[in-house]
Amino acid sequence: MKTFSKRPSPSERLRGTACPVCGSPETRPLWDLGDFAFARCAGCGHVYQNPRPDPADLTLRYDEEYLEYEVRNALPYLRLMLLGLADLGFERIEAALPEGRSFLDVGCATGALVEHAARRGWEATGVEVCRPAAEYGRRVRGVTILEGSLRDAAFPDDGFDFVHSSHVIEHVPEPGAFLAEIHRILKPGGWCVTVTPNRTSLQAALFGSGWRSVIPDHMHLFSRPGLLRLVRDSGLAPLRTATWGGIALGLAPAPLKAALDRAAKLLGFGDVLAVLARKPPAGT
Ligand SMILES: [Zn+2]
Repeated sequence: MKTFSKRPSPSERLRGTACPVCGSPETRPLWDLGDFAFARCAGCGHVYQNPRPDPADLTLRYDEEYLEYEVRNALPYLRLMLLGLADLGFERIEAALPEGRSFLDVGCATGALVEHAARRGWEATGVEVCRPAAEYGRRVRGVTILEGSLRDAAFPDDGFDFVHSSHVIEHVPEPGAFLAEIHRILKPGGWCVTVTPNRTSLQAALFGSGWRSVIPDHMHLFSRPGLLRLVRDSGLAPLRTATWGGIALGLAPAPLKAALDRAAKLLGFGDVLAVLARKPPAGT
């Protein structure tokens, strides 16, 4: 599946930035892709766009074109998100929570997962930066979706039992602040799942700057240690990580793909990385 991305507009303002994982200002150029470039942090090895566009300009990239992409892919993406959640033990967590449990999907697109959670008895909410996608979700699915960034939503402290975000954190200019906000809005003892491309995957190693996740809209390409560091720094306690997808569809004969997918899951070199974390319960 192709990941949605837009070429940067020439009017976007670019500025240099320190590493969002360790704070080091020192970077080494990694890939120059013409109108965007990735650098590697000299301190911790995190790979991110530097210089990067102004956050306000980034938001403007998510428009009608993004809605069409999301509508086209809503079902396969929902299926993938549910497989990932199942792998991380979502159903056990769900079963242990009382009635009235609350679910937030950050970057919910048209709200397919919000709708799914609502049908399973969650009080489900989405937040989405793309206004047409949020409007579509409210109109077509009848679900609650707030427009804007997670911070714009200004949710109260300690409000959610479960916060999910899939393929969002790599788009966010300040991923540490993003996770800190998730920590703030989770109830003590609440859970979150963060899913993002895995920079230390087989495909990333094979394709380098041609890896499918090296696109203008990805501000960050996380490794497992880098993401775990940010999760811990935000106050969340990581419980499990998982990776999925050894090789993309069509890149290897079916039996080889199946073997690589199994090995990737077992050994952690899958193309998608997920972390299940928990906000420490009160009094701990
Ligand atoms: Zn760093």
